Amino acid sequence: MRLLVVSTPVGTLGSGRGGGVEITARALVAGLLERGHQLTVLAAEGSTLPPSCAGAALWGETGMDQPSWQHRPRSAPVELPAGTLLGRLWRRALSHQADFDVILNLAYDWLPLWLTPHTATPVAHLVSMGSVAAVMDELIAEIARSHPQHLAFHTAAQAADFDLPQPPRLVGNGFDLGRYRFQAEPAELLGWAGRIAPEKGLEDAAAAAARLGLPLAVWGLQEDPAYARRVEASVPPGTLRWRGFLPTEQLQAELGHCAVLLNTPKWNEAFGNVVVEALACGVPVAAYARGGPAELVQEGHTGALARPDDVAALVAAVGRARRIERRRCRTWAEQHCSQQAFAARIEAWLEAVNGSALARR
Ligand code: UDP
Repeated sequence: MRLLVVSTPVGTLGSGRGGGVEITARALVAGLLERGHQLTVLAAEGSTLPPSCAGAALWGETGMDQPSWQHRPRSAPVELPAGTLLGRLWRRALSHQADFDVILNLAYDWLPLWLTPHTATPVAHLVSMGSVAAVMDELIAEIARSHPQHLAFHTAAQAADFDLPQPPRLVGNGFDLGRYRFQAEPAELLGWAGRIAPEKGLEDAAAAAARLGLPLAVWGLQEDPAYARRVEASVPPGTLRWRGFLPTEQLQAELGHCAVLLNTPKWNEAFGNVVVEALACGVPVAAYARGGPAELVQEGHTGALARPDDVAALVAAVGRARRIERRRCRTWAEQHCSQQAFAARIEAWLEAVNGSALARR
């Protein structure tokens, strides 16, 4: 297939501002290239792709970042700032649609979803978040009725947020596992990774680390610096070790030293990339039993689950997770989250979208 992948209108690929969508984009582009498809990626100007995606054409567009839905009230209306990147990405996508079999949308946003019934080339949407806004819920429910094939979700927990008339297509996520080294020997160190923003619940991981008397290394982009300062002030000095946002190669090298990764979402996390990235390094995960992480962490096998928002339960989960054999974590990631398996699932989905569009003509 000739595929156009339209990236997130929040930040450039490679900057970390798009969150987990960036890893998803890299894995699916590299994996679909390996399977013989022709790929073009349309993203914010200045985006970069790793060498594994060198076979894809990269198109850039300038424009204002889109305000992310997760930081707006549930009842917020659709917003398109002047000079919007989202509008420009989709104008470009539509003006070239005749050159592609399927357009794959990675943006969690209103405009591309709304376009679904109105394009000549089918648009498929990989929905990257759970429910965060009424106007998005309404549109996703509408598309699920009119064009059910065109939607895919990462996990069942995420899809359950939406009003879907039939079982959702679940594609999980994929990782180039060759980039993550297994580390058998942990240090006396806990880890946490993700965008540093309130919905990610860093304060609970910090509180658990403080109770255990262990340092907590923190990797990720400070999306909300005031929130980061509040978390820092909530625990004894020295508990947190801020490591900044690191590229995957450095992130995995440091992450692999952790005894346990803590994952403490306050929202219905769609997937939880960092959970799989830790497992790929052999690091067991103690997570709140909420959203995607609750499906990725297998109690007693790849980690331990705690009742959401319960720091005492999280402390106990860290204790259980520390006893897990690290090799089993790596094996689980290889069996369930390889780039190859993910690309095969995406390919099957896009072929179905393409087939249903051809049948409709
Ligand atoms: N990440 C990274 N470097 C860091 C910290 C995080 O590249 O120092 C990446 C990580 O690999 C993951 C993403 O940031 O893919 C966060 O994705 P996740 O699904 O955990 O959460 P999201 O930000 O999408 O809500």
